[in-house]
Amino acid sequence: MRFTYVTLFPQLIEGYFQDSIMKRALQAGLFSFDFCDPRDYAANKHAKVDDTAAGGGAGMVMMSQPLFDVLAQFEDTTVIFPTPVGKPFTQNDAKRLARKKHIVFVSGRYEGIDERVIEHFADELFSIGDYVLTGGELPSLVMSDAIARNIDGVLGNRESLVTESFETYLLEAPSFTKPAVYEGMGTPSEFLKGNHSKITALKFALSTAKTQYFRPGQLIQHNKRTTYEK
Ligand code: SAM
Repeated sequence: MRFTYVTLFPQLIEGYFQDSIMKRALQAGLFSFDFCDPRDYAANKHAKVDDTAAGGGAGMVMMSQPLFDVLAQFEDTTVIFPTPVGKPFTQNDAKRLARKKHIVFVSGRYEGIDERVIEHFADELFSIGDYVLTGGELPSLVMSDAIARNIDGVLGNRESLVTESFETYLLEAPSFTKPAVYEGMGTPSEFLKGNHSKITALKFALSTAKTQYFRPGQLIQHNKRTTYEK
């Protein structure tokens, strides 16, 4: 898998891959990443990449020409535009996109990107939540992290993917570690007894309760799916 980040601020992204799981996965050659800075493609004297909005309005808009020239070089890629107006990005998208060979993320800045670039090149438009960030770099990183951990070999233990939140619509059950009692607060005793079928049953009950409390819509989806599968 290759990730290409089209961004005016590559340094915002680069640091993320210098530690922990992503660093090890990079070193193991499980994915690679590179950058394209639209300024390097601007066909004007001052490497200008933004201009005032047609029809007026506050703020600047990223111009078509530099981005057209950046994106025209790619073939056989999936081009993703992070944008607040996109479809909400989900775990299913992360899993599906982990099978692609090359993903290009195009980070907007200012008031966004000239719509003609999006019309011409976008394969997918994703929002990472109902709020507005200053640029597409964080959303691109959020999505690439979620995608990368679904690439074979990136996580040491694939089991952690299977039991994670959203795999079955349910949120993951709460986790505990040693000591068994901390500051007067215990660990559910079943977790300490080693009976795996009882532990699984308790985790399922806790997971269901947590989903009901925090994300009731997810529980409805889960129940629909299990009814359908019966
Ligand atoms: N004027 C735009 C609007 O109201 O929809 C917001 C532009 S925002 C300041 C600049 C860039 O940040 C966007 O082009 C996009 O790349 C990124 N961005 C901001 N919030 C985002 C979100 N919730 N999800 C995905 N991308 C986002």
